[in-house]
Amino acid sequence: MISQTRMIVQDSLDALLEDTAFLPGLEGEARKQAFTSLGAILSTPNHLHKSFLRVALENGSVVRIPAFRVQHNNALGPYKGGIRFHESVNEDEVINLASLMTLKNALHDVPYGGGKGGIVLDPRAYSEKELHLICKKYVQYFSDILGPDKDIPAPDMGSGEREMDWMMAEYKSIRPGQAYKGSFTGKSVINGGSLGRREATGKGVYFTFRYLLHDFLQKQREFLSNSESIFAKTALDYDNSESPLTIAVQGFGNVGSVAALEAYQCQHLQNKVVAVSDRNVTLFNADGLDIPSLIKFTSLHGGDLPTTELELAEANVKAAIQNRSDVLYLDVDVLFLAALEDQIHDTNKGKIKARIIVEGANAPVTSEADEYLSNKGVIVIPDILANAGGVIVSYLEWMQGRETQFYSEEEVYRLLLEKMKNTMDTILPAFFGDPHPLRQNCYIHSVMKLSTVLYRQGKLY
Ligand code: GLU
Repeated sequence: MISQTRMIVQDSLDALLEDTAFLPGLEGEARKQAFTSLGAILSTPNHLHKSFLRVALENGSVVRIPAFRVQHNNALGPYKGGIRFHESVNEDEVINLASLMTLKNALHDVPYGGGKGGIVLDPRAYSEKELHLICKKYVQYFSDILGPDKDIPAPDMGSGEREMDWMMAEYKSIRPGQAYKGSFTGKSVINGGSLGRREATGKGVYFTFRYLLHDFLQKQREFLSNSESIFAKTALDYDNSESPLTIAVQGFGNVGSVAALEAYQCQHLQNKVVAVSDRNVTLFNADGLDIPSLIKFTSLHGGDLPTTELELAEANVKAAIQNRSDVLYLDVDVLFLAALEDQIHDTNKGKIKARIIVEGANAPVTSEADEYLSNKGVIVIPDILANAGGVIVSYLEWMQGRETQFYSEEEVYRLLLEKMKNTMDTILPAFFGDPHPLRQNCYIHSVMKLSTVLYRQGKLY
């Protein structure tokens, strides 16, 4: 996976090298050399920190748990990115996710660099007391490199506000008397977190899709009708469709369930969420699923969707129970991917029927699959564009911590959607005006910003 981000960054640099309107001060050999330097800088993290946390378990045994913090790039501000708690975490994955954070923050004008952390464990296999100890150890081992103006972690897969509260408290006790509210984001509201942070990623994911297919389309119908882009045709086909758009959502956690609820409640587009899935099942109903009832059920059952007729009756939901991977191959208009990475890849790409795919998770579509789908006119709204709601509200939380002034939930959502709208308004005209897929357009934009800043900071010579 690591080479994929690198490859797209390199393609973006190659395109920019030829574009003489970009950094016109750089010419000839000096230009070539500067672009080679940019390739080297952006394809490698600044720092890779690794430790083995020594943790005494409740059964008396002592274990060593591998843990990482990768600091990819801080040209635009302090390193920023979540800490993933998952048994499959590995060095390459954390490096790739950290570089995606650099690109994501640059794309949305969030004044941060990119970082990511990871702890190799299955959080379900540890008691609350043990997890608390693991979080404290993580901060103890990495406290020198973290801080509100250095590197600011947040939740990621497998972690949430409970872990951020514990980590911030440990940071505070290691550095008494120093500013600590901005050391971690994604905290609970009572502990300095922001209203709306939990829902932010899912809301932003749905918003990018709605904005593309409704708001932007309404404003730019003529431009799209005159465009030669195959993607413009895909968008206009949906616009002309008489029947409601059918939606399937893979993953029903913090991101997928919120995106599904947004779709269910959407007043702007005629929608039907016909399928949702989690690690156990896919639930399907051609007439549309009752998303609020499913959310209520999962909140009472450890986050899991109903898996039997009995549980469906308890949830008061009508649905057919299917295999968990079926969600990917349904004959739907739109597919939201809000589970894990590498879900659509070389071997299953031909089975995908949706014409719009939205990446709620990080890297759920591999670059081969993306290229194949894009060639067929499928619009893939990429992770760095669609799932930035989390880090945008993290930024609002960090600012609120500094100012000790707190925004209402309404204000948080207004600022979040305004930021995402600004990005979409910058990216979409280019996307519908050239033949590149949306991911490539986003990367080019981020790489342009990072290159200009690195050049002006004198880092290229
Ligand atoms: N883990 C989230 C992401 O991948 C949020 C990061 C943050 O809030 O810093 O974007």
